[in-house]
Amino acid sequence: MHSSYTYPIGTPGEKWGEAQRKQWRAQTSIKRHYQQEVIPKIDALREQFDVEQYGALSYDPARYPLYCIKSKNWQPHKPVVLVTGGVHGYETSGVHGALEFARTEMARYSQEFNIVVAPCVSPWGYETINRWNPLALDPNRSFYTDSPAEESANLMALVASLDGEILVHIDLHETTDTDESEFRPALAARDGIEYIEGMIPDGFYTVGDSENPQPEFQAAVIESVSKVTHIAPADEKGEIIGSPVVQHGVILYPMVKLGLCGGVTNCTYGTTTEVYPDSPKVTAQECNLAQVAAIVGGLDYVLAEQSK
Ligand SMILES: [Zn+2]
Repeated sequence: MHSSYTYPIGTPGEKWGEAQRKQWRAQTSIKRHYQQEVIPKIDALREQFDVEQYGALSYDPARYPLYCIKSKNWQPHKPVVLVTGGVHGYETSGVHGALEFARTEMARYSQEFNIVVAPCVSPWGYETINRWNPLALDPNRSFYTDSPAEESANLMALVASLDGEILVHIDLHETTDTDESEFRPALAARDGIEYIEGMIPDGFYTVGDSENPQPEFQAAVIESVSKVTHIAPADEKGEIIGSPVVQHGVILYPMVKLGLCGGVTNCTYGTTTEVYPDSPKVTAQECNLAQVAAIVGGLDYVLAEQSK
């Protein structure tokens, strides 16, 4: 039980002000390098695809340019597929899984779709291994008009600039042990509420949109990923992270209402993947491949639906 748990910043029961947010930012540090680990992988795709810069983070624009990778033969009659990674920068396989998809599978699917991949929406979070941005804002609760999180605002502007209807959006995430050990306690402290301990499920699951669940699409994603890694079981309450499991490995959130990246488009088929990288049963590369399998499983399902 964590009833007596106190986060080292702020006063229990009181929302953080500017001073606490600054204190939080002061204890962050660079732990890995976007320019060395991510940008070279993006650059390596420039021959095959159109790489475009869609913005830069104002904290350090030279250090944090924002890139997307687009199909070269963008044609108005083809439906658009959006893949996003690193909305939570610490969720490593979201970033590297998106890049792995671009490297290995995107060309094949570019015959049928216009594809745009934004592999690292939150590069500061990638470098500091953080869920929040430097303002202690969660980009994945900030997808709404006039967003105060520039990571989210930049992606929304990219989406608005795309030519054609977005049919599919797959947003790549992880659920990690640090969600319970660090990020949820920090959230409770920031918002001045009590931290109630939760449980991190061992395995992959997806989050669909409660306003448009697309159960068969979710099932196709789960089926594809299950060939690469194990699917999270429901807990004894029939839940995963506090939400009812509506079908094997699937929970639902109201994407738009919560300001989630999964609500950034009006797509027909949308899912948010949740890879569990802390399982003793998986390697980092398997996590990346699970993300690729999720995208491929989803796209194969959509192609099959379209040919009916
Ligand atoms: Zn996430």
